[in-house]
Amino acid sequence: MKASEVGYAKPASLPEVFALLEKNEDARLLAGGQSLIAGLNMRLSNPTLLIDINGIAGLNTITESGGTIRIGALTRHLDLGASPLIAAKLPLIAKAVPHIAHMAIRNRGTIGGSLALSDPATELPACCLALNATMTAASSKGERKIPVKTFFKGLFETDLKQNEVLTAIEIPLPAAGSLSGFSELVRRHGDYAIVGLAAQGVRKGSSWSQLNLSYFGVGDHPVLAANASEALLADKSMADAQAVLASDLSPSEDAENSAATKLHFARVLLGRVVASMS
Ligand SMILES: Cc1cc2nc3c(=O)[nH]c(=O)nc-3n(C[C@H](O)[C@H](O)[C@H](O)COP(=O)(O)OP(=O)(O)OC[C@H]3O[C@@H](n4cnc5c(N)ncnc54)[C@H](O)[C@@H]3O)c2cc1C
Repeated sequence: MKASEVGYAKPASLPEVFALLEKNEDARLLAGGQSLIAGLNMRLSNPTLLIDINGIAGLNTITESGGTIRIGALTRHLDLGASPLIAAKLPLIAKAVPHIAHMAIRNRGTIGGSLALSDPATELPACCLALNATMTAASSKGERKIPVKTFFKGLFETDLKQNEVLTAIEIPLPAAGSLSGFSELVRRHGDYAIVGLAAQGVRKGSSWSQLNLSYFGVGDHPVLAANASEALLADKSMADAQAVLASDLSPSEDAENSAATKLHFARVLLGRVVASMS
C-alpha cells in the first residue's frame, strides 16, 4: 500500500516549524522517517502536512557542558553510535545503538524520532530512563524541560504537545566509576526486542550504591524495576532480586510469548546484565 496524498514543507528554522504546527493541527514532524513513512504507507495515520525538520541547523550536535551531555534530537542512530563522546561518557547508549534495527534504518533514524514515537520495545527510551535524561521541548511559547520519568505516558504516547518539537536530550554525566550494562532478547539481531534491559549503576566494592534497571518490552513504556534495584542495593542475592521483579513488571502476552515467559526473560536478563557490569 502507498501513503495517501500529503503536503510537504521543509522549513529552515524552528520559528517556521512552530508557525506551521500552529496552522496545521494534524501536521506531523518528519525526522528520519523510518517509522512515520512506514506508518503512512500502511495508512495508520493520514496527516495533511509533513514538516521536514532535517533542514534546521544545530539540531544534530552532541556536546558536553557543565556536567551534562546534550544530544540534539536530529542526531542519527549511526552518529550516536560513532560518537567518541558518547562512547567515553555514556557507554550505555553506545552499547544499545547496534541493537537498533539494521544499518539502513540507523543511518536515517534519529534519537528524537525514537523518543517522540515512544515505541515500548525500543532501546533509546529505556537508556534515557536509566540515565535520568531530561527532554527539551520547544514551541512558539519557549522551551520546556521534561524529566524522563514524566515524558513517557503510554503506548506511543509522550508528554509532548502537538505544537512542540523535541529539540534535545540532556543527560547528566554518570558518577565517576559508574557502570553500564545492556542486553535484549530478540528472535533475530535487529528485530524489536521481546524484552530488554538497560542498566546504569555505581558499585562500591562488592555492593551497589546506585542502580537503575530500565526494562523495555514489558509494558507500554520503559519501566524502572525499583524493587529489584532495592534488593541489590541491600546486598540481597540475585535470586532474591529476580524474585521481586514480579512486583516491578507486569508484561502483557504477545503473539509468541506469554506474560510468564516474558517475566522469565526479564529475570534472565537481570542476571546477565548485572553480571556484565564490572
Ligand atoms: C523495519 C524496522 C525496524 C526497526 N527496528 C527498530 C528497533 O529495533 N529499535 C528501535 O529503536 N527502532 C527501530 N525502528 C525504528 C527506527 O529506530 C526509527 O528511526 C525511530 O523509531 C524513529 O525515528 P525517526 O527519526 O525515523 O522518526 P520519524 O519516523 O521521522 O518520526 C517518528 C515520530 O516521531 C515524531 N517526531 C520525530 N522527530 C520529532 C521531534 N524532534 N520532535 C517531536 N516529534 C518528533 C514524528 O512526527 C513521528 O510521529 C525500526 C524501524 C523499521 C522500519
